[in-house]
Amino acid sequence: MAIKIDSKIPEGPVAEKWSNYKAHQRLVNPKNKLKLDVIVVGTGLAGASAAASLGEMGFNVLNFCIQDSPRRAHSIAAQGGINAAKNYQNDGDSVYRLFYDTVKGGDYRAREANVYRLAEVSNSIIDQCVAQGVPFAREYGGTLANRSFGGAQVSRTFYAKGQTGQQLLLGAYSALSAQVQAGKVKLYTRYEMEDVVIVDGKARGIIAKNLVTGKLERFTANAVVIATGGYGNTYFLSTNAMGCNCTAAVQCYRKGAYMANPSYVQIHPTCIPVHGDKQSKLTLMSESLRNDGRIWVPKKIEDAKALQACTKEGWEIPEEDRDYYLERRYPAFGNLVPRDVASRAAKERCDKGFGVNNTGLAVFLDFSESINRLGLDAMKQRYGNLFDMYEEITDVYPGDLANEINGVKYYKPMMIYPAIHYTMGGVWVDYELQTSIPGLFAIGECNFSDHGANRLGASALMQGLADGYFVLPYTIQNYLADQALWPRVSTDLPEFAEAEKAVDAELTRLLNIKGKRSVDSIHKELGHIMWEYVGMGRTAEGLKTGIEKMKELQKEFDTNLFVPGTKEGLNIELDKAVHLRDFFTMGELVAHDALSRNESCGGHFREEYQTEEGEAKRDDANYFYVGCWEYKGADKDPELIKEPLEYEAIKVQTRNYKN
Ligand SMILES: Cc1cc2nc3c(=O)[nH]c(=O)nc-3n(C[C@H](O)[C@H](O)[C@H](O)COP(=O)(O)OP(=O)(O)OC[C@H]3O[C@@H](n4cnc5c(N)ncnc54)[C@H](O)[C@@H]3O)c2cc1C
Repeated sequence: MAIKIDSKIPEGPVAEKWSNYKAHQRLVNPKNKLKLDVIVVGTGLAGASAAASLGEMGFNVLNFCIQDSPRRAHSIAAQGGINAAKNYQNDGDSVYRLFYDTVKGGDYRAREANVYRLAEVSNSIIDQCVAQGVPFAREYGGTLANRSFGGAQVSRTFYAKGQTGQQLLLGAYSALSAQVQAGKVKLYTRYEMEDVVIVDGKARGIIAKNLVTGKLERFTANAVVIATGGYGNTYFLSTNAMGCNCTAAVQCYRKGAYMANPSYVQIHPTCIPVHGDKQSKLTLMSESLRNDGRIWVPKKIEDAKALQACTKEGWEIPEEDRDYYLERRYPAFGNLVPRDVASRAAKERCDKGFGVNNTGLAVFLDFSESINRLGLDAMKQRYGNLFDMYEEITDVYPGDLANEINGVKYYKPMMIYPAIHYTMGGVWVDYELQTSIPGLFAIGECNFSDHGANRLGASALMQGLADGYFVLPYTIQNYLADQALWPRVSTDLPEFAEAEKAVDAELTRLLNIKGKRSVDSIHKELGHIMWEYVGMGRTAEGLKTGIEKMKELQKEFDTNLFVPGTKEGLNIELDKAVHLRDFFTMGELVAHDALSRNESCGGHFREEYQTEEGEAKRDDANYFYVGCWEYKGADKDPELIKEPLEYEAIKVQTRNYKN
């Protein structure tokens, strides 16, 4: 089966197309007294911006999140910045160039028209956020500053030190709070969506658990929007916040929403390496550091061995014995190649024995050259909080002078290694961000929409805010225009009762297993399977083994799990058990998708399909499509449906970052 999407790049500026959507705003003009309710699940950058915008447009919004405040959503962790095609640096940037870089960065697996729209609204996002008072970094003269992120040869990333996500979220939160105050948004903090309720084929509400009392509650609306983030924590160790989960998305999948491109998982090259088996979290060192940091390993294997044995330090190795392998392999982009390329290059060096820490699984990120050129103060202004964070975790301050060789000063480098970071795959949506269930929309990281097989740095915040401030508030009205004719549904309908009963039965089942293993111990094992067989390098054989191992482990979960406590009141272990149940479903989906895609593209690297130089080898003749997966039941494999990609503006070619 194939899906057909009408998503041609609109003629003329996209803004003109939006003005047609705006006509629908009359729907909620106070004069016609129409009351339309929208549930928005999530208060990260996507959810908060959408809820605030919908509230401002006159809808009644019910906005849910699992944290005690919207300000604690995972988006707060975003460090490096947000892209926009403002061309403030006058370095040749344009909407087209951002569009082109993003499509190329995604290894030509994104829907072209979506990316064009994203690039076009990128500039409005910056205006919106500046108007809200977001304190973007500025040049000495007061204009907004920019830096570069991977996959781009221009400076288009707007930032607020290494805390961009936090500042953007505070901006969205103030817009949201204004709507709460105006009575248009009602916030439900510490509520978790457990299921979507479908009435007559349309999403008409959710079942949510009050995480404090443990009580299940029913909510109805004219449409449901999920903005619940990505599924990176399927791998257990990731840079994601501990609470990130894919329960809402997977439950929608079980109810009929397709899951698209799940195998496109981003492995970020610059994370603090794993340092033991007691860890539950990995820490990102922002990609922005690659603006001024140079990545290297020793040229000589004996130096690498000495570093691994801790008999030598990196700063004792002179310039001529350092291999700046990204600059060597990709002279045009150097240290600013996209994440998938940089991660694979680090793995290749470590696999060959050139890794630099005691596990052999790390490379250096060295700021010596920039500190010598710009001074430590300038570096602190740009990355101060990241340097501090690195010191707190490793006890090494990257700005400390360590050695001088032939008159060149060497500072202590960071050690970094790739780690799971972001998921490009997610709930399938059409051009209007509607899922395959009418009335159910998905925005932000939890959808699959704009990044293809690899996301460029600083583009997630751009997509989340584009969806929330500028796309969904208009497209959802095409659906809601018809809804005005539909009667409001009551939460007393049998569909609500059945959904609630099923959720309750699941919670009882998990509590009653009464086995011997904690949620975390099983989750950690799932993470090992995912990393080993469905991680950076995948093979058909390994993926099949991975699926088998996941099935076995799921049996262990179903028969030997121990969840303490009861359903009543706060029970974090029970919540985690629900999340883990859904990570299993997601893990298998990632593996199935990876197994079905006999090519390498972006973050999906099948070792059987690579060039002689170790680059990803795509197969456009057979795999130029979005892979959508339909749920077929708990004991059945999911079924693949294809949405063929159609490119009209960009020539599909082999990605090249060398020249
Ligand atoms: C360390 C780090 C640094 C990053 N830096 C950058 C960067 O510099 N630039 C960039 O562009 N991107 C960056 N990213 C990626 C970016 O931060 C995320 O992709 C983005 O913030 C996701 O936003 P979101 O609104 O889609 O989801 P999230 O911020 O994950 O929010 C999800 C929301 O859904 C709620 N939720 C989840 N499940 C449920 C449920 N079942 N019921 C109720 N509520 C639920 C949560 O409470 C939360 O409010 C970074 C990511 C990490 C991990």
